[in-house]
Amino acid sequence: MNAEIVSVGTELLLGQIVDTHAATMSEILADCGVSCTRRATVGDNWERLQGVLGEALGRVDLVVTIGGLGPTQDDLTRQAIAQVLGDDLVYEPEIALELRQFFETRGLPWSESILRQADRPRSARLLPNDVGTAPGLICEKDGKRVIALPGPRSEFLPMAQGPVREYLARIGGGEVIHSRVLRVCGMGESAIEAKIASLLESANPTVAPYAKAGEVHLRITAKASDRDLADRMIEPLEARIRKILGTHVYGVNEVTLEEATIGLLKERDETVAVAESLTGGWLGERLTSVAGAGDVFLGGIISYDLRVKERLLGVCEDTLNRFGPVSAECASEMAEEVRKKVGATYGVSLTGNAGPTSDKDDKPVGLVYVGVAGPGGVAVREQNFRGSRDDIRRRSTQAALVALREVLL
Ligand code: ATP
Ligand code: MG
Repeated sequence: MNAEIVSVGTELLLGQIVDTHAATMSEILADCGVSCTRRATVGDNWERLQGVLGEALGRVDLVVTIGGLGPTQDDLTRQAIAQVLGDDLVYEPEIALELRQFFETRGLPWSESILRQADRPRSARLLPNDVGTAPGLICEKDGKRVIALPGPRSEFLPMAQGPVREYLARIGGGEVIHSRVLRVCGMGESAIEAKIASLLESANPTVAPYAKAGEVHLRITAKASDRDLADRMIEPLEARIRKILGTHVYGVNEVTLEEATIGLLKERDETVAVAESLTGGWLGERLTSVAGAGDVFLGGIISYDLRVKERLLGVCEDTLNRFGPVSAECASEMAEEVRKKVGATYGVSLTGNAGPTSDKDDKPVGLVYVGVAGPGGVAVREQNFRGSRDDIRRRSTQAALVALREVLL
C-alpha cells in the first residue's frame, strides 16, 4: 500500500518549526510495510489544504495528516477531511462532555469554539487523546483512508506510536522496511568505509554510512515480510561489522556515546572526574545528562582562566610559561590533578583554542589537547578540529569521551 503525508501549518512553511513529525510518521509507515511515496506541507489555508488532500487521495489510498486539529479558526484539518471525503460532521456529545471536564478540572478558560473538537467526519472513528483535547481520526470511506493526528508533540507521539502504528501494521501487511543503526566512534568515515567496503555492496540488507559530529552511524536496513525476519536478516551483517570494527562500535540505535561511557564505568565499578577549559562544563553536562550518572561521575573543575588552572588544578607556573595553557603538558597536569583532587579512577581534561581567533600564544584555532589520567598513568592526545567555535567545543567533548573509552577498553 502507498501513503502520502500532509503536514498542516503555516509555521512549518515559514520555517519556524521543523517538521520532525513527518519524519517519525515516515518511519512508522516503513515499519508497517506501507510505502510513503510523497510528503507535502501546506499552510492553514482552506482552499490549499482541501486541494492538497484531494490530490493526495487521488493518487493513493491512505493519507496521514499532521496538525490543525485544534480549536482555533486556523485549525481546518477536520473540516477539510470531511469535505474531500464528502462527509458531513457529526457532533459527539460524549467528546463535548470530556472537553468540558478537561477544562474544568484544570481550571482553564472555556470558550465555545473548543466544541469544534467534538465534531467528527461521519466516516471517522476517534482516537482518544490522553494528553490534550483534540482526538485523532481514522476515516475509512470508499476504499480510501485518512488518518489525522494532532500537532503538539506530547499528543502526536503517543497516538502515532500507539493506536496508529497498530492500525497501520494491520492494514499494511506487505513487506516491512526495518533498520538498525550501529554507532561507531574513534574512526573516520573513509577508514570505516575502506574496512567494510565489501559489505556496502550488500543489497538486502543494505548498509549505509552516515557521518555525524565526531562519529559515524552505519544504518543496516532489511526488507522482509515481517519485522522479526528483518531483524534476523540484520543480525549476521551486524555481527560481521562488529567483528571488523571491534570496540569502535559503541552502541545501537538511540544509545549515545555518553550513555555508553557511563555504562562502561558502571560495569567496571569505576569513576570519572573532569577538568574542562575550552568546553566550560559541556563534557560534564553530557555525562550528567545520562540518568544514573551519579554512580560514576563525581564532578569536575571548570578551569577557564590561567589562575584557576594554577590554583585549583595545580598546573605549574613553569608549564604555563614554557608551553602555554594549550599544550599537552598542561592537559596532562590538569587530568592528573583533577583525578587526585576528586578521588576518581579517571581524570579527563580538555584544553584548547576554540577560536574564532588565535590565542595570545598564537596556538591555531581548533588545536585541542585531551588528557586521560588513570591508574596506569596519563595519556594526552592532540586534536586539530575545524569549524565554528561551537563545532570545535562539541568535537572536543566527543574526543574526550572517545579517549576515555579507549583507555577504559
Ligand atoms: P492545537 O490544539 O495546539 O492547535 P493542532 O493539532 O491544531 O493542535 P497545530 O496547531 O498544527 O496542531 O500545531 C501545534 C504545535 O505542534 C505547533 O506549534 C508545533 O509546536 C507542533 N507541531 C505541529 N506540527 C508539527 C510537525 N509536523 N512537526 C513538529 N512539530 C509540530
Ligand atoms: Mg492548532
